[in-house]
Amino acid sequence: MLKINQRFLLRHFLRHAHNKVRVRFAPSPTGHLHLGGLRTALYNFLYARHLGGKFLLRIEDTDQTRLVPGASERLVEDLRWAGIEIDEGPGFEGEVGPYVQSHRREIYSKAIGELLQNGRAYRCFCTERRLDLLRKEALRTRQVPRYDNKCRHLTATETEALLAKGTPHCIRFKLTDHEEPLEDLIYGSVHHNVSDTEGDPVVMKSDQFPTYHFANVVDDHLMGITHVLRGVEWQISTTKHLLLYKAFGWQPPKFGHLPLLVNADGTKLSKRQGDIGIQHFRQRGYFPLALINYVVSAGGGFEHRTNAKQQLLSMQELGEQFQIERVNSHPSRLNPELLDDLNRLEIGKRLSGKESRGELVKQVQDLVKEAYPKHSNLDLAEDHILDVLNWSSQRLTLLQDLTSSNN
Ligand code: GLU
Repeated sequence: MLKINQRFLLRHFLRHAHNKVRVRFAPSPTGHLHLGGLRTALYNFLYARHLGGKFLLRIEDTDQTRLVPGASERLVEDLRWAGIEIDEGPGFEGEVGPYVQSHRREIYSKAIGELLQNGRAYRCFCTERRLDLLRKEALRTRQVPRYDNKCRHLTATETEALLAKGTPHCIRFKLTDHEEPLEDLIYGSVHHNVSDTEGDPVVMKSDQFPTYHFANVVDDHLMGITHVLRGVEWQISTTKHLLLYKAFGWQPPKFGHLPLLVNADGTKLSKRQGDIGIQHFRQRGYFPLALINYVVSAGGGFEHRTNAKQQLLSMQELGEQFQIERVNSHPSRLNPELLDDLNRLEIGKRLSGKESRGELVKQVQDLVKEAYPKHSNLDLAEDHILDVLNWSSQRLTLLQDLTSSNN
């Protein structure tokens, strides 16, 4: 755990020595990496690469009820497969770790202490039952459910008495009706006054774990994050985060929200459709670069290319050409046909490189052996496989098509 003076030095160091872009991908380990998550990670990575900055991975696991064992490891593996390199993160230790939020609880407790002390946060003893009644009453009167800030008004003596009795409580942040300006790197000026629609938000739950909002702000600050690029679904929370930065007297990072990723017909991509997981694309045999080019084709970030179909950029080229101001602010439509085209291109590209050609042949050999485990007289000679590949490469979307029965 970092001591305060160490942290001061570190901050000093980050400000002066780095003075460079530091971005992060901050998933919650609640499931598999899917296209939306990959897109967020990718844009952060490309932004860092474009500006010679650092890309951090932070695991946001403060909601202990939603954890999925092994999810973090699988996530790192999927990022690695996609070609996204982590500069700092769990297992890639940097100087501002730990990079897993459940290992940073002491840091959050200290930060909460600061807010309690300067009167920007308070203890709330309201029971679940009371909160539930508030919710029901709001629904009955057709209002948006929100906490009524009751415990804000407890006196110090009342709070002491409740604490002395060991009454369970959480900690809430005092919202003000001041609206911090948000100049979104992708959406431009965004206006939202949190206190118009929400009661004071919980920052520390009764289980002593911080909420997402609180831990996210504290970590982005302590980790020296300069730019936060995340899904647009978080944009509404950003105005709340800005109030937290202000309460601490911290300079907030710059924010850019990435538009929704949607199906070709404009409908919402849903995990329930089962086919947006990166594992799914991997298992079907798509190559990482095809998937990466597919994802950016929907979100923008590059000079408009009329012949996008024909182009497959390497990760390095993508990094060089990426421009945050070119990311779309309208929903990003995915076109699955383009993914197939891109994979075909990638097969062609691999066939033309000496080393990659050898790997391709090996992959086909493995696929054939797997598909026909009982056949001992298969012709798996390199020349033969290359003939087949050269002959079929124009039409071959996936190597798996060579062995699948519906071909
Ligand atoms: N843990 C949040 C998520 O699951 C991170 C959001 C953010 O990037 O701030 O997406």
